[in-house]
Order: sequence, then C-alpha cells, then structure tokens
Amino acid sequence: MEEIEIIKPDDWHVHFRDDEILRAVVPETTRHFARSIVMPNLVPPILNAKQAIEYKKKIEKAIPTTDNFKPFMTIYLTEETKGAALKSAYKNGAVFAVKLYPAGATTNSDSGVKDIQKIMPVLETMSEIGMPLLIHGEVTDPNIDIFDREKVFIDQKLDFICKKLPELKITLEHITTKDAVSYIKEANKNLGASITPHHLALNRNAIFTGGIRPHNYCLPILKREIHRKALLNAAISGNPKFFLGTDTAPHFTSDKESECGCAGVFNASYCLPLIVQLFDEENALSNLEKFISINGARHYNLEINKEKIKLFRNNKKLILKKALTINKKKIKIFDPGFCIFWNVAT
Ligand SMILES: [Zn+2]
Repeated sequence: MEEIEIIKPDDWHVHFRDDEILRAVVPETTRHFARSIVMPNLVPPILNAKQAIEYKKKIEKAIPTTDNFKPFMTIYLTEETKGAALKSAYKNGAVFAVKLYPAGATTNSDSGVKDIQKIMPVLETMSEIGMPLLIHGEVTDPNIDIFDREKVFIDQKLDFICKKLPELKITLEHITTKDAVSYIKEANKNLGASITPHHLALNRNAIFTGGIRPHNYCLPILKREIHRKALLNAAISGNPKFFLGTDTAPHFTSDKESECGCAGVFNASYCLPLIVQLFDEENALSNLEKFISINGARHYNLEINKEKIKLFRNNKKLILKKALTINKKKIKIFDPGFCIFWNVAT
C-alpha cells in the first residue's frame, strides 16, 4: 500500500448554505480541510460584518468537536457596499474577503454587481487595506454564448480591474478555460485562481452522456476537453498562482432534477481522494501539496497549516456514498465516474 503525508489542505471556496443543509454539509468539509473561505450568497445574502459574524457562529456550531477547522467569512459585494464599512469589518477580523458576483451569474446572485465602474471606489479601498476580492468571472449578457462567458469577462472586466488596481489581491474563482489559465500565468503577482475538482475531472460531454445529467450542471459550466487539460496542467504544475477551491455547492436532488435545475456540484465528501487520484495518474504527486495545501495560503498571505494528513492508495477502488440525507430529502454526492483508489487516512 502506497502512503504519503502532506500538510493539511485548505479549501478556498465553499458553500455551506444555511440551517439544515449547513448542519449536514459542514462536517463533510471540516473532516479533511483546515480552513475555508465561505461564500456569502445566502438568501438574503451576507452584506455586512454583523451578518457575517452571525453566520460564522452557525458554522462553528456545526463543526464536529473532533475537527480543527477555521471558516473565513466574506461579504457579498453590491453597488451599495461602502468602503468604510468593509475597512472596519476587515480590520477587526470579522470578514476576510469580498465576493463579486456579476448580477444573475449563478445561484442567488440577483443582488450582484451590474456596473463595474460603480464599485471601483470600494475596490480602491480594498486595495489600500489588502482585502482580497474574489470574483465569479462570467459576464451575464444573454447574447454571449454560455461557454464563452468566462473569456469575455476576462477580456472586458477583469483586465480593466487588474490594470487599474495592480495592487489589489484578486482571486479569479473556479476557472474553467485555457484562456483563464494563460491570462493568470501572465498577469500581475496579485492575481491568482482557484480550480474545482469537478472542472479537473470532467469535460462538457459529462452534462449530456446518454441524456441530460443535471448533477454535472454547474456554473461556470463544464468546458471542452482542451480546457480541462489546461486546468489539470495548471494544477499539477506547482505554479503558485493556482490552488484548490472546490466550490462545493449543495442543492437538494429535487432542486437539481427539475424543469429548471439548480447549478452546483456537491463535492466535499470525496474531493481529496479524487484530486490525489488525478495527480497520481499524471505522475504529479510531488506537486499535490502545493496545489491543495500551500499555494492558496501563500496567495492570501496566511501561514501554512502545521497539521499533517496521510493519504493512502488501496488496491480496491473506493466505494462512494451516493447522497447525504436530510429529513428524507437527499443531496447527491459528486461522483466523477472513474475509479478512485486513494483515500484519506483517519
Ligand atoms: Zn461558488
């Protein structure tokens, strides 16, 4: 049996939702990860420090006592967000970062930003105080093809923000294209990108294999194989600009399998085994720790975790649990459709 020991990883992009879903999904993340940045797109969204602190308390209550886990809170950026309020929320440690959703881009993003110009003063303040900006990088113009929305966002919006504010710490989240990979590689040192396990594992055929597959529908949407390969190469390269952010996004199965199914993949449960499997197949286990445990922390100017975890390779494939059950309702657990032999030692 092959075994490796690495620094305990962090997940720099999670959705914990609220209430019963929150209580069910938090332990799935805290079991394997030391820290996470928690997204603010609740209904209603987290708009200020007070709401962030209340939300953090709910999350902390849901962490099993055996797990040592720290949530990092975010504020949902709107055109009304005030720089002064962000400044005090950041300085007193209540909030770690700000999330920019273009209005209508994904789940619960209706109050997002329509006009980037209107938020430039707030971004200037963030740049001055060193507060990170997390971006869902897709334009929402219905005339732009859904598979092109990330590239158009980079060309039309991100490039403008980066050039205006080169000192602003920015994460382009859940990147999905070779265009994003090239842009990030060449951009200033303050721009990094997170990559999800499902975008590393699947291409867009997975949405349509033998019929429509609502559980592989996420935003940004899965792309062509050439893009998946570019993401995988970026992840395994060890390049410090790329790190793990799972975008684990639980929805009830009934909301995914519907006439208008929700976007999002709940991948927390087997995210680490899946990623180790992918790195192993690429002969890149030597760079695994950089992608899941080091690069993200460095990008956010945080200490690297002291704790370690052990990963081992079995001869038999891992049997994946199919779903979490909450009061008779189910949340389907992401299954990449290939064999996984790696697991986390407990
Ligand atoms: Zn997300």
